[in-house]
Formats: sequence, structure tokens, C-alpha cells
Amino acid sequence: MADTPGYPATLRLAGRRVLVVGGGTVATRRIPALLHAGAVVDVIAPDASTEIREAAGAGRLRWRQRRFQPRDVLEPEPAWLAHAATDSPAVNAAVATACDEHRVWCVRADDADASSVWTPAVAHGAVGTVAEGVTVAVTGGGDPRRAAAVRDAVLAGLDSGLLPVRRQRPPSGPDGSPLVGRVALVGGGPGDPGLVTVRGRQLLAAADVVVTDRLGPRDLLDVLSPDVEVVDVGKTPGHHPIPQSRINEILVEHARLGRNVVRLKGGDPFVLGRGGEEAIHCAANGIPVEVVPGVTSAVSVPAAAGIPVTHRGITASFVVASAHDGATAALDALRDAPVTSTVVLLMGVTALADTARRLVESGRPPTTPVALVESGWTPAQRTTVTTLADVAEVAEREGVRSPAVVVVGEVVRIREQVGDLVPPSLLADAAPSLVLLAHGSPDPRHAAGVEKVAEQVRRRWPGHVHAAYLDHHPPSATEVAKRLDGGVLVPLLLTTAYHVKTDVPEAAAAMDALGRGRYAVAAALGPDPLLFTAADELLARAGFRPDPHTGVVLFAGGSSDRDAISAIGDAVAEQILAGWGPWGVAALAGGDDVEEVADRLRAEGAQRVLVVTYMVAEGVLRDRMVTHAEKAGADVVPGTLGQTDALADLLVHRAREALSPER
Ligand code: SAH
Repeated sequence: MADTPGYPATLRLAGRRVLVVGGGTVATRRIPALLHAGAVVDVIAPDASTEIREAAGAGRLRWRQRRFQPRDVLEPEPAWLAHAATDSPAVNAAVATACDEHRVWCVRADDADASSVWTPAVAHGAVGTVAEGVTVAVTGGGDPRRAAAVRDAVLAGLDSGLLPVRRQRPPSGPDGSPLVGRVALVGGGPGDPGLVTVRGRQLLAAADVVVTDRLGPRDLLDVLSPDVEVVDVGKTPGHHPIPQSRINEILVEHARLGRNVVRLKGGDPFVLGRGGEEAIHCAANGIPVEVVPGVTSAVSVPAAAGIPVTHRGITASFVVASAHDGATAALDALRDAPVTSTVVLLMGVTALADTARRLVESGRPPTTPVALVESGWTPAQRTTVTTLADVAEVAEREGVRSPAVVVVGEVVRIREQVGDLVPPSLLADAAPSLVLLAHGSPDPRHAAGVEKVAEQVRRRWPGHVHAAYLDHHPPSATEVAKRLDGGVLVPLLLTTAYHVKTDVPEAAAAMDALGRGRYAVAAALGPDPLLFTAADELLARAGFRPDPHTGVVLFAGGSSDRDAISAIGDAVAEQILAGWGPWGVAALAGGDDVEEVADRLRAEGAQRVLVVTYMVAEGVLRDRMVTHAEKAGADVVPGTLGQTDALADLLVHRAREALSPER
């Protein structure tokens, strides 16, 4: 019989007679749940526990002090259910037999096989929590401990907010109209779904409507049931699609419809989060509102970067301020803070230069360390360390973007000893560093051009981006790698010639050999359609349009590898120059003379010859190219490939290819 599955049901015992035979521990343990269910409890036992005696004395149950007789099942009126709970198997068996005869369900605690009813392990969602009203009943196939273990796990799930305990039928008032709902202002933490409070998760699990922010941890929304309404009132800097007053109204409107509303906010609702305004508006409109504090980015984002906002021996205080454009007052207030206090700025990227200047004016040394921590607690977390004097320039160069927390103070140096303090799972996903490996040149214009390329790549790459040089000047690839933990090495070399084949793999091997992390090596840039798009971009930017009477010369510098250059030239011809007249390739160091190529193009019908630089940056080579081109009577198209969007796109594309697992 135990093999046949049972039929779980809930007995509604209110006002119905339940017979309990036995007055010992088993009976004592069972009776409260029966009373809780409103049953009329009738105990038959020659002796009973204190609890049973007291309950009988208080009139909550009836106790007859004698042995069981079969007619007890039917008298004084038939029982709906019986419990055989004595310590004598013979008596329990007699109870079960009498019950079977009269078709009364009987629980035998001592013998599951002989029992017509199995009682499950039960838990009720706690009153006042989101799980209120939920009952969990588990049977364990005749193994009560197993059932209890599962029940406890489910109970923990109810408490955690991971289980969907949301009411599907809104509670209604006596006249059937919906009761007014509630608003909870929930702090979602800085972005990691693990950094929301248990209470926050519970309320989310019970929410009918979730009103979200750009900064709230979006992963939490993925687990909401599909019929939960998500209202996105997210703002991006300088762009406020939904004004705060409207957000306030949205909360009240939904609550008035009887809904449980969660206003999920980034960090803490009351730290530069306008949660106070939302609370006031709800209160003023008679909507019950509660706040669930969150882990504020002001403290947790520096922490993620290994920066404690206070540190024994350095400082015992910190100030948090908004450095939003219009936050002059907040910044002025910083003047009064002790200069040893750590300063934490939120919304600080746009007005960074101004803020840094004010902090120096109010007495902080220009050498004070500053950390810019972007996208804390996400895989894109990136930290840039500099000083008050340099921060504006460095932020610009590194392409620092919102959301970022700015930390000013000596505590920033703690990071040198501990590094990032986020879980390994985040680090594993962290955006890898990208090292651009270029030629060096004695001409400083070249390195400046390479830096410009790096800047463009930074705008496209979530991790750190560094330039390194093969020759002439630092930093070398190994010098850069000493500061990083692996990543991807992308040759910023325009041909597939010697350097790509030899120098790049050698550099990568030396970087790996440091033991600080491995480097994926990206493929050579050319020939790739994006290079032609880059050349095209230069032509278009200078206002040239395809024209069959104009010849185009692609003028490459610095390679004696004739094959590599013409491979690219061939591809160019097919790609962008399709609409142009004759084309050619010249190479400064390749023995090819641009005059010769220009003459050939003219012989092929070109009335005008344009020269496009196939070079990364300005410098001596390009100067020489210009001289040659002028001698050949050609027009030089301004700019270098390094200044095009297409080249930056291609570099990022090569880096992603190198890191993609399919490779
Ligand atoms: N109430 C929020 C702050 C809102 S103001 C809190 O307590 O955290 C928005 C600013 O918070 C952003 O401009 C940025 O400075 C900061 N911020 C929020 N989340 C961040 C994150 N994950 N990484 C870096 N900065 C963050």
C-alpha cells in the first residue's frame, strides 16, 4: 500500500470532531495543529501530559480519562478523523480497525504502512512576511525526517525571497473593492544581485509592480514572474525621460489599485537617490510606505576596488557628496570637511575638473591620490588611480564614464596592497586589458597619434587600454604587462609583414613569461574591409567623391615587404575603390616610387591623382610621403588611418576575435 501514491489534500477541520487516542508526547505534539485548525478535539487516555490537562482545564479540548473503546469512534458523535497516538501498538491497531470499519480516517504515528492517513511535515509562511498565507506540506514516502528536511529547505526559500510567493489574487475589502497596496523603497545595492538585502528580495518576490532605475541590479528583474509589471523610469545622465514628480505619481497610482509596489533603486534609496521625496509623496497620499536600506555605492564601490573609506591611522571620517553639475552647494560644503577626510563623490564624472580644482583650493594637496572606480560590482569594473592635479586630464584620456565613484584621499593607497576585492566570479568575467602594440618613432608626433588611437579604442573597450611600442621608446610590451594581469595583445601594425610575424609573438611570449596572466594575440589588421572603410572615411571626410577620372594611390610607409603591401592594395582595389578610376599602391621603403605609380595611373586615364596615407600616425615618414606626393603632382588626402573610427572599430573587433572561445 505504501507504494501507491497518496492523494494530498487539506482537511478543513473547523468545528469537526477529531478523536485523539493517547495522552503522551505524540498526542501532545499533534494537538496544537488540530486546535489551530479549529477542530473539536476529543482526547481518550488514562493519563495525559500537563499540556493536555491544561488545555482541557481551559476548555480548549475534551479529555476523557479512560481506556479506548471502539465506540469512541462514533460517540458522542462520529469523528471525521482520528489519531492513534498511544505507545501500545495493540491499542493503536484497535483504533485503526474501529476507524476502518466506520470509514473514519486514522493516523497511526507508529506504523506508516498500517495508517490510512499520512501527515506531512508542515510549515506556514510567517505572519507579517511576504510568505504569510502560504502553507507548505511535504511527505517523504514514509520517512518523516526526510520530509522535515525538505520542508525546512522550502521554508528557507520562502524567507530568502527566491520563491515566487507573490499573491496572484489581490486581497479585497469586505465590499469586494481592492484594498490599498503598499510601496516599498528598496535599495538594490551597487549592481551585483548578491548585494541586495534578504528583505529586499522578499519584497521583490511578492511585488505586483516593480519600478526600476538604470542603476538597480537588473539581474534581479530576470527572476520575476512574467506577469509582474516592470516600469522603467531609468535616467541616463543629462537625459531625464521621466521627471521625479511623475515617478512619485506612478508609485501612488499603482498602490491605489491594491498592488504591492517595489521601487527598486540603485545603492541606498536615501543616499542621493531621491527616495525621501518618494516616501513623502506616498505618505502624503495615505499610501503605506516602507524603506529597505541598500548597500550604497558610496561605500561599496570604493570597497570593490580595495579602498576602505576609513582606515586606522589614515582617516576616521568620510564625506559623501554629489558632484553633479549643479551641485555647487554640496561641493562648497566640502570646504568645511577636515582635509584628512576621505571625499567620496557620486555623479562626479562630468564636473571632475571643476571639483578637483575646488578641492585643491580648499586645502587638499594636488598630490592627493584619487581613484575613479567605474561600474563597480559589474564585470566591467575598472579603476583608474591618479592625483587631484592630474585627474581631469587622466579621466579624459582614459575615457572614464558614468557610473563612477570618485574617491579622494590617502586611503586610495590601500589598493596598492590589496587590489580589487570582488569575488573571483566577477574577476573572471572582468573585461580584459587590451594592449596595442605599435612601432615607436623618434618623432613624438607618432606616439601622440598612437595615443589618440588608444583613446578611441578606450571609448569602445570596457577594460583598460594601453599602448606599447616595439622600438625607439618606452613603454615596451613587457613594461606595460607588469602593471596588468593578462589580456589581449593587438598589433597596431598595418601590414602582415615581418613585425606581425615575428615581433608580436615574441612580445606576447615575454608578457606571458612575467607570470602575471596570459595574453591572447589578435590577428593582423589587414587585409580587412574595415581598413578600406578607414581609407574611405579619410577620402569622404576630405570631401572627395568616387569618380572614374580620379586615380587613388594608397601610400604605405616603412615596410620592405612588397608582397604584404600589394596584398592589401589588391584588396583595397576590390573594396572601396570600385567606384574610382585607376588605383595603385606605393610604399616608401618598398622601392616603389609614388611618381612612378602616379604616372602609370595617368597613362590609364586618371586626370587627377589622390594619395591616401596608409599609416597609423603623423611623423617623419608621412612628411616624406607628402614631399614625394607633391613631386608627383598628386593631392594628399589629409589625415591618417589612426584618426578614423573604422580603425578603432577594427582593433576592437580583432581583440574580441582573439578572446572568443571559438578560436
Ligand atoms: N542611491 C545611490 C546613488 C545614486 S546617484 C547609492 O546609494 O549608491 C548615482 C551615482 O552613484 C552614479 O553617478 C555613480 O556615481 C554612483 N554609482 C551607483 N552605482 C555605481 C556603480 N555600480 N559603480 C560606480 N558608481 C556607481
